[in-house]
Amino acid sequence: MSTEKNNNNKKVNFNTYWIYGLIIFFIICVNMFLYTNNTTQEIPKSKFMEIASQNHIEKLDIINDDIAEIYIAKSAQASYEHIKQGNPISVASPHFRLNFGDVGKFTEQLDKINETASTPIEYYHIKRTNYLGNMLSWLLPVFLIIALWLFFMKRMATGSGGPGSQIFNIGKSKATLFDNNTKVNITFKDVAGLNEAKEEVMEVVDFLKNPKKYTALGGKIPKGVLLVGPPGTGKTLLAKAVAGEAGVPFFSMSGSDFVEMFVGVGASRVRDLFKQAREKAPCIVFIDEIDAIGRARGKGAVQGGNDERENTLNQLLVEMDGFSTDKGVILMAATNRPDVLDNALLRPGRFDRQIGIDRPDLKGREEIFKVHLKSIKINDEEVVPEKLAEMTPGFAGADIANICNEAALVAARRDKKAVDLDDFNYALDRVIGGLEKKNKIISPKEKEIIAYHEAGHAICGWFLEHASPLVKVTIVPRGIGTLGYAQYLPKEEYITRTEQLEDRMCMTLGGRAAEKIVFDKISTGAQNDLDQVTKMAYGMISVYGMNDKVGNVSFHGMSQDNFNKPYSDETAKLIDDEVRKMIDTQYLRAQELLSTYRNELNILARTLLDREVILKSDVEQLIGKRPIEMVETEAENVTEAPEIAPEDQPEI
Ligand code: ADP
Repeated sequence: MSTEKNNNNKKVNFNTYWIYGLIIFFIICVNMFLYTNNTTQEIPKSKFMEIASQNHIEKLDIINDDIAEIYIAKSAQASYEHIKQGNPISVASPHFRLNFGDVGKFTEQLDKINETASTPIEYYHIKRTNYLGNMLSWLLPVFLIIALWLFFMKRMATGSGGPGSQIFNIGKSKATLFDNNTKVNITFKDVAGLNEAKEEVMEVVDFLKNPKKYTALGGKIPKGVLLVGPPGTGKTLLAKAVAGEAGVPFFSMSGSDFVEMFVGVGASRVRDLFKQAREKAPCIVFIDEIDAIGRARGKGAVQGGNDERENTLNQLLVEMDGFSTDKGVILMAATNRPDVLDNALLRPGRFDRQIGIDRPDLKGREEIFKVHLKSIKINDEEVVPEKLAEMTPGFAGADIANICNEAALVAARRDKKAVDLDDFNYALDRVIGGLEKKNKIISPKEKEIIAYHEAGHAICGWFLEHASPLVKVTIVPRGIGTLGYAQYLPKEEYITRTEQLEDRMCMTLGGRAAEKIVFDKISTGAQNDLDQVTKMAYGMISVYGMNDKVGNVSFHGMSQDNFNKPYSDETAKLIDDEVRKMIDTQYLRAQELLSTYRNELNILARTLLDREVILKSDVEQLIGKRPIEMVETEAENVTEAPEIAPEDQPEI
């Protein structure tokens, strides 16, 4: 609900409470005024007897057999001070009041007085009912109950917490509104890289700011923009930056906010969201994780099993069709699973634009580091964004933000004045492998197996032509179940060749191969490696068509359960056989390689046992430079173009 609306509600409730209060106060005042009389003086019995004996009493009313109201004759009024100064309004009111006690005895006394008196006292029995008093006596509790009820209703309806807080607003959209009153400080400057995406969304923002510029040429404002990309790549950040830049109201909510356990709530929230948006148009509506509601309809084991979600999606489709482009409501949505989205949602006219946001490349990572390093006090000489970007291939923006933060925390824990490269290395290890578990008890025998396992990976990688360069090997246990790892620096490449994948597979199997060669036994430590290798082999054969026998086929994205295989049983068997053959071949290759470099394997494993962490430079010292890198450097030296002095350059 919008903040403004909240304020309005508050105002209305404030006024009504005052009115209720005033009414009650007024009734009480009237009652008090009517039934309390200032000029009526209460007198004791003795005084009454005295007045009566002087024949001053003109009339006496016995009210409800309880009290007597005494009226003094006009001729005698001058002898009573308080009557002389009396309030003219209360002229008709009694002058004295007497609490006589028992009514029977009192009337007897009066009769006795009257027998001897020259002018007998007239007295009347009067029954008087205090209607207002009686009414108040039951109205007041009712008023109180109503007031309490209203108070709790208000608390429940607007209260931020409490289990009942949603009951009254359940059909209302939960979108947060950012407009002129709520400042968003994120702008495009905070979003590093993503230049194409920024350009696209900037155009949308521009549409909203100057619709005439586009409509004059016959263009239509796009209705929807879908940001597609892996988690943590900055989709939400980009949307927030749009809010910061747009200068138009921006509604933000998550796809899961529509879903509630009650039927019909999702659809009603969608309606409410668009109603609010239309009121604020031109504006942007952002739905994060739209796959929570936008999943393809009618898919799933039980048809119609999730009608509520489908209804919500239908409503969204209807609303998107409903708002015309000239209204200026633009829907932005983010998802990392465009494949599961309903086709109807993706057709032009709904999400006209799809902006792919990929993991950043080297340059992108460098820029993201620059953004996040701004808020950290760093040792400028050591911490260079370029270097950090090189160390973090495949990392998304969120990972980079996390590493920067982690590094700052580590430096603070180590009481440093600025964050240095060592802290970044530590943070990187922590993000990759999890928390160091220094106290984990590992027997020397186990440690030896781990050392040989990791050394096996490292040696394979070192001597294989297409393996990625090594960064470091460690046998410090980390996180859950990580006993050690070898870290590599993959190249920034968009396609991978068969021989690269084969070398990668061989290197991954190097751990188990080392255990087999050295101890002639294998362990469970290779489970993760085997998992990777199996996936890789199935991918190469059934997705990338990298096997001669299976051929150039790809079964990617086709349903692969037991009943709906896109291939025959023979092909299934062929794939299985080829996967096995491929893995066996690479395993043998790894074993052969390690047997050839057995000496180097021993050196590396022993050093690892000794130092726990060894870097690339250490490996170079221990077993010499990597053969492929020596070849590459030689080739570079040969092909380096001779420098031409400026004056020698041919004119173009
Ligand atoms: P997504 O919505 O794609 O899952 P987010 O937008 O929530 O990812 O990103 C999470 C965090 O990662 C952001 O708050 C930001 O700190 C960081 N981040 C991601 N991409 C970038 C980027 N391009 N520039 C700067 N920071 C980024």
